[in-house]
Amino acid sequence: MLRLLIAVDGSEHARNAIDTAARLGREGEVEAVLLHVREERAYHGDLVPREYERIDEQARQHQAQVLEAALAHARHAGLSRLETQGEAGTPEIDIPRVAAERRADMIVMGTRGLGAVSALLLGSTAQRVVHNASVPVLLVK
Ligand code: ATP
Ligand code: MG
Repeated sequence: MLRLLIAVDGSEHARNAIDTAARLGREGEVEAVLLHVREERAYHGDLVPREYERIDEQARQHQAQVLEAALAHARHAGLSRLETQGEAGTPEIDIPRVAAERRADMIVMGTRGLGAVSALLLGSTAQRVVHNASVPVLLVK
């Protein structure tokens, strides 16, 4: 059984990562955790509690939508042993941490994500996950 940690951010690259993961093994040979990390922003410290709660609630809703869409995409791509996990924190730290906790054999993610700079070869999350991870990282275009 190949255990994968697939990092998803709602981008086309992350959907390509799911498709590639689904092709790595035949039905039933791959199990995967779909992970999204909602970023905890530094400026929250300057906000009054009510504003903070509203932004936090929006972020939670967005995370639920990203994970639900990724789950539907993964099922459609042929993966059946699936779990989702939503974390709040810092993607480049929490993706390698969850991969280690889940004893994943490999992290699968996109080369780029939702960032605006389309000329970028490799997004900053992807670069830092490669640096921080103790398991192989499959970067999907
Ligand atoms: P940047 O964030 O540096 O502006 P980018 O958004 O184009 O650039 P990355 O953020 O490095 O590129 O995204 C690469 C891949 O990392 C995505 O395809 C996705 O697999 C994963 N990823 C990015 N952000 C998250 C996140 N918040 N939670 C989980 N996975 C993520
Ligand atoms: Mg990004």
